[in-house]
Amino acid sequence: MSTAIRTAQNPLDATGCGDAPVLRERGQREVFCGLTGIIWLHRKIQDAFFLIVGSRTCAHLMQSAAGVMIFAEPRFATAIIDDRDLAGLADANDELDAVVDKLLDRRPDIKLLFLVGSCPSEVIKLDLSRAASRLSRRFAPRVRILNYSGSGIETTFTQGEDNCLASMVPEMPASPAGAPASLLVVGTLADVVEDQLRRRFDELGIGPVGFLPPRRAGELPAVGPATRMLLAQPYLAETARLLEERGAQRLEAPFPLGVEGTTLWLKAAADAFGVPAERFERVTERPRQRAEAAVARYRDTMAGLSVFFFPDSQLEIPLARFLARELGMRPIEVGTPYLHRSHMAADLALLPSGTTLSEGQDVDRQLDRCHAAAPDLVVCGLGLANPLEAAGLATKWSIELVFTPIQGYEQAADLAELFARPLARRRRLEV
Ligand code: SF4
Repeated sequence: MSTAIRTAQNPLDATGCGDAPVLRERGQREVFCGLTGIIWLHRKIQDAFFLIVGSRTCAHLMQSAAGVMIFAEPRFATAIIDDRDLAGLADANDELDAVVDKLLDRRPDIKLLFLVGSCPSEVIKLDLSRAASRLSRRFAPRVRILNYSGSGIETTFTQGEDNCLASMVPEMPASPAGAPASLLVVGTLADVVEDQLRRRFDELGIGPVGFLPPRRAGELPAVGPATRMLLAQPYLAETARLLEERGAQRLEAPFPLGVEGTTLWLKAAADAFGVPAERFERVTERPRQRAEAAVARYRDTMAGLSVFFFPDSQLEIPLARFLARELGMRPIEVGTPYLHRSHMAADLALLPSGTTLSEGQDVDRQLDRCHAAAPDLVVCGLGLANPLEAAGLATKWSIELVFTPIQGYEQAADLAELFARPLARRRRLEV
C-alpha cells in the first residue's frame, strides 16, 4: 500500500491498539536518569549552559556518556554537593552562587543557564528554583537562569528534556492579540531535520513556524491562542500541558517517524492551515516516493520478523508502528515507561491489534515474557542488551534512537537501517 493511499485514511478511524488493555507494572526498572537529556540539549541550544547540581556519580555519568569536548568550551558541568546536614545548606547556596559567578564571569557567550537538579538527598534539600530566581535577578538581562530536575527518581531519561522544555514555557513571549495562526514544533530535533522540515512547511505555505527548543536562547518563539503545536517527540507531556495552558492547540498526528508517520504529521499541519490537498500532494510526492523506495529495500529481509520493546525512551509505540506498517515486522510486546493515551492516540490506532502494550516495568517478569516469546529483535536499554545478546537474542539499544536524526522523509531509510543492522549481525554470527 502506498503512503498516498494511507493518507486518505484518517488514523482516528483506525482502531488498532486504540482501545487495547495495558499491562501496568510497577517493579524494578532499568533506565537512565534525566541528566542524559543534556547530551542532546546542549548541542541544540547553542548559547545555553547546563550546570548539574549533583554528586560525583552525576559527574561520572555525564563524563562517560557525553565524553569530553576537546575543541570547544564545555557547555555542561557538575557542581558537586557533598554530604552535608541541613545546617550546611546555607553554605551550599553560597557555594552555588560562587560557582555561577565564576562561570558567567568567564563565559560571556552563555545566555541561558540551566541549574539541573539531581537525586542525591543533599541536592533534593536545596531549593533550586529559589536559587534560579535569586541568580536571575543578579544576571538579568544578560543571562536568563532557569532550573529543572534531571533526577533519576523520574520515570525515564527522556523526561529530562520534558522538564527542561517545560522550564522554558513561562519564558516564551505571548503572541500579540489578533496574531495570525502560527505553528510551533515541540521537541528537540537535529538541526539537519529541523532545516528539512522548515523547508517543507515553507513549500506548503505554512508559517510562521517556531521550534522549541530554539537554537539560541534569544529565539524563544511566541505562544498564544493562535498557536497550533505539533509534537515532534512523544515524551513531552508536561511541556505540552503548559503550552496548552497558554492557549496553544495540539494537532493530533502520529509522530514523524517513517514515511507514513511523516506524511500524516505534515498533513495534520496542512489541514490546520487550510493547505489544499493538491498542493500537499505536489509538495510531498517526490520526497515521499523517494523515502518509500529507500525503506522498501529493507522490507524483504525484515517482514515477518518479531520485535519486543522494553520500556526506555517513550519512543517505543511510534517505532513499533513504523516497524509493523512499513517493514512488516510483528510487534509482540511494546513496553513504554509512561503511556500518554491522547498524545499516542494516532500511533496506537495504527499499531496492529493483538500487540501487548505494557506501561512501567517489573524487569524480571518482563525478561521472562521476552525469553518465552523468543523474538527476532529486542529493543531495550543498554543495561539489558548484553545479557540478552548473551542469551542469543539480537538487540537494538533504544538510546541510540534518541541520539540519531530519525524524523522525516530523508531519515526514514536510516531509521530502518538502525533496526536492520543488529539483525544482519546476528545472521552473520549464526552462519
Ligand atoms: S541524578 Fe541520580 S541517577 Fe542520575 S547520575 Fe545523579 S545520582 Fe545517578
